[in-house]
Amino acid sequence: MIKLRFKNIPLNELTKTIESLGEKKFRAEQIKKWVYQKRINDFSEMNNMPKALREKLSENYAVDKLVIHTILESKHGDAVKFGFQCIESGHLMESVLLIDGDRRTACISSQLGCGLGCVFCETGKMGFLRNLTQDEIVGQFLGINDYLESRNDHLITNIVFMGMGEALSNFDNFLGALAVFMDEDIYNIGGRRITVSTAGVVPSVERLLKEKLNIGLAISLNSYSNEIRDTLMPINRKYPIESLVEIAKKYYAVTGRPVTFEYVVIDGKTNTAEALNAISAYLGGFPCKVNLIPLNPSSGSMLCGPTDMSLEKFYEELLCRGITATIRKSRGQDIWGACGQLAGKKLNNENTKS
Ligand code: SAH
Ligand code: SF4
Repeated sequence: MIKLRFKNIPLNELTKTIESLGEKKFRAEQIKKWVYQKRINDFSEMNNMPKALREKLSENYAVDKLVIHTILESKHGDAVKFGFQCIESGHLMESVLLIDGDRRTACISSQLGCGLGCVFCETGKMGFLRNLTQDEIVGQFLGINDYLESRNDHLITNIVFMGMGEALSNFDNFLGALAVFMDEDIYNIGGRRITVSTAGVVPSVERLLKEKLNIGLAISLNSYSNEIRDTLMPINRKYPIESLVEIAKKYYAVTGRPVTFEYVVIDGKTNTAEALNAISAYLGGFPCKVNLIPLNPSSGSMLCGPTDMSLEKFYEELLCRGITATIRKSRGQDIWGACGQLAGKKLNNENTKS
C-alpha cells in the first residue's frame, strides 16, 4: 500500500484525520508539534506517544524528510543553496538560505520548473514540470531549519517565495504551507516576514487579497514598456503593466502594505532614459518600492547585466524622481544561488553518485 504523505494534510484537517484513526482530538496538537517543530523523520521518534498510535500512523502515513542532495555554502557565508531530491523524477528542488545579521531568510520553490517562460530566467527554460506538494514546500523550510540547528544557529526568521516557479499558480499548496509557517503553535512567522513574488498573475493576487493573510507582495515588473515586457515575459500579453499597477494600488489600499516591484536590470534594454520617465509616470506618487536586480546572464543569451556604475546611476536617477528604490544585494554569486536564478538541474547517474 502506498502511504499518504502526512505533511500533505492541510493543517485545519489534522484533528479530523487523527479522529478518523480512532484517536482523541488533543493528540492532533501533539503530533503537529512533533512533525513540524521537532521535525521527526519517523513516527517512532514521538516518544511521549502511545506505541499503538505511532504504529497506526506509520501504517497509514509517511513523514520522512526531503533528501538533501546538495548543500553549497557561499564563500562569504552569506548564502547557502540547497538541492532537495525529487525522488520520482530525479529533479532538484532548489532553495536558498540568505544570512544577513540576525535575519535568516529562506527563499523557497513552489513549482518544478515554471510555465511562464520569461526569457531571462533559468527556471523558465525548464518549462512547467509540476506543482510542488505542500509536503515538498514545507519540506524545504524544515530542511533549512535542520541545517541551521546543526550549526547552532537560530531558525528561519523570514520567508520569500522567490525560488523556482509561481507560488500563486500553485495556490492551494502555497496556502497549505503558509498555514504551517504562520501557525502560532509551530513557527509563528507573521505576515510581515513573508513575501510572495509573482510575475503578475492578477486574478491570483485578487484571490490572495481575499485570504486576508497580510503577507508582502512583490511583482516582477522587469520592464517599463509593454512592448519590451511582451518580449521578455509572455504573461504580459495577458496582464500588461497597467493591470499590475492597478492591482498593486488595490493591494496597498486593502492591506496597507506597499508593493515591491522587482526590476531586473538588463543593460541597454531596461535601464534607459526612457525607462526612467516611464517608471516615474507609472509609479510616481504612490507608496511602493522598486527593487533593482542586476541581470544574472545565462549562457547563450544575448542579454547582459549592467556594470556597477550604470546600475548605481539608474538607481540614483530613480531616487531623484522620487521613486523609492533599492539594489538587491547579490549574495551567493559564487554558488549561483540568488533567488529566482535556480536551474533545478536534473540528476543523471554521474552526479547522483556524489
Ligand atoms: N515566479 C516568480 C518568483 C520567482 S522568480 C516571479 O517571477 O516573480 C524571482 C525573481 O527573480 C523575479 O523577480 C525574477 O524576475 C528574477 N529573475 C529571474 N531570472 C533572473 C535572472 N537571470 N537575473 C536576475 N533576476 C532574475
Ligand atoms: Fe517563472 Fe518567475 Fe522565472 Fe518568469 S521569472 S519563468 S514567472 S519563475
